Amino acid sequence: MDFTIPEKTQIIVEMMDEFIKKELYPLEKDLESNDWDAFERELDKKRQIVKQMELWAPNHPKEFGGMGLTLMEHALVSEVLGQSSLGHYVFGCQAPDAGNIEILHLHGTEAQKEKYLRPLVDGKIRSCFSMTEVDMPGSNPAMLETTAVKEGDDYVINGHKWYSSSADGAEFAIVMAVTNPENSTYLQASMIIVPTDTKGFNLVRNIPVMGHTGAGYFSHGEIIYQNCRVPKENILGGEGQGFVMAQDRLGPGRIHHCMRWIGICNRAFDLMCRRALERTIAPGKKLASKQIIQAWIAECAADIQSARLMVLHAAWMIDNVGASAARKEISMIKYVVANTLQKVLDTAIQIHGGLGMSSDTVLSYFWCHERGARIYDGADEVHKTSVAKRILRGYMD
Ligand SMILES: Cc1cc2nc3c(=O)[nH]c(=O)nc-3n(C[C@H](O)[C@H](O)[C@H](O)COP(=O)(O)OP(=O)(O)OC[C@H]3O[C@@H](n4cnc5c(N)ncnc54)[C@H](O)[C@@H]3O)c2cc1C
Repeated sequence: MDFTIPEKTQIIVEMMDEFIKKELYPLEKDLESNDWDAFERELDKKRQIVKQMELWAPNHPKEFGGMGLTLMEHALVSEVLGQSSLGHYVFGCQAPDAGNIEILHLHGTEAQKEKYLRPLVDGKIRSCFSMTEVDMPGSNPAMLETTAVKEGDDYVINGHKWYSSSADGAEFAIVMAVTNPENSTYLQASMIIVPTDTKGFNLVRNIPVMGHTGAGYFSHGEIIYQNCRVPKENILGGEGQGFVMAQDRLGPGRIHHCMRWIGICNRAFDLMCRRALERTIAPGKKLASKQIIQAWIAECAADIQSARLMVLHAAWMIDNVGASAARKEISMIKYVVANTLQKVLDTAIQIHGGLGMSSDTVLSYFWCHERGARIYDGADEVHKTSVAKRILRGYMD
């Protein structure tokens, strides 16, 4: 087995790494600023530089202005960009736009691609993905309550969603709604494009997450769709195809997320090692001299390495045998990496003591905003159940 990273990919990754450290780390102090507009302008300047460096939209198709990297290449890129919470946004491959771009690319009509996909890849507009509902379990999307009823040439949407990340300032939402209640469970829902200036699209609030409300891209919206009317041409793919299309983006999307989390682990690990070596804990003694700290460092290093190899293996499987055959591996990396992330962040905070709890390092921001990793993209428990079922099925034949 060859673990060598191709020279071209290595060069890209190194250029990005240098940019992140030099240009983005200094901006992280403003992540919790109340002036989103000013912050966005600052980030836009960095985005222009990234475009000039021809490093924009690494995973998006070349014909729409991206770099067209393969899944494995983008996995390595996602790792390096994940070191900063600003990385994916500044390089034009941030969730939820990245997933929406994939859906539009695979299932959009020519008109939808011109109107939504092109400006989205270009970073001129943003979008959100609106599936999870306040009153229904996100873990069981078959219970979706939002409806899109056909009236003449339109769909009329009614429903109450939340955690539509980055809805604030988005140009459009891709909404998951029941269009065909008469169909079997997983053929009832469709994805529909809803421009956010449509009457009946009501962004009620940005949900405070662990005490941070955020704004613009860095926010999570609660939305009431109230007799929200859009033309029937706004449907993506076919009626009743919502879940099938959601499955399509599952594998690659998971690799991107997990490698972003590995990037955060790497950053936290770097901070913990530096702190252990800098902090004097007794006269002439550094924190790093304590065995328990050494054990934590050794454990975290091994945890990160094993999680990373699992993700790269899952990416390799998607490339070589397809996402469907790799479903067990794609589910396993979700809970393994999310828990590694939580453990590494927790250890890094512990090693920093009071400093780790303060906002003077990026660790507390990561802690607040990445705890969700065990919940979104399918709660860990759902993935564990699905993995166990697959394994046990093999014993029943
Ligand atoms: C930061 C963040 C960003 C998000 N962004 C988006 C977004 O952009 N768009 C969007 O549509 N949604 C988004 N979500 C929502 C996310 O997808 C849901 O929170 C997730 O699917 C879980 O649904 P729920 O919150 O309704 O929890 P529930 O379904 O109510 O589940 C609650 C808990 O019950 C347990 N559980 C559930 N099912 C089982 C089971 N079968 N077996 C055992 N235990 C189980 C799990 O521990 C789970 O955490 C986001 C969430 C977060 C936290």
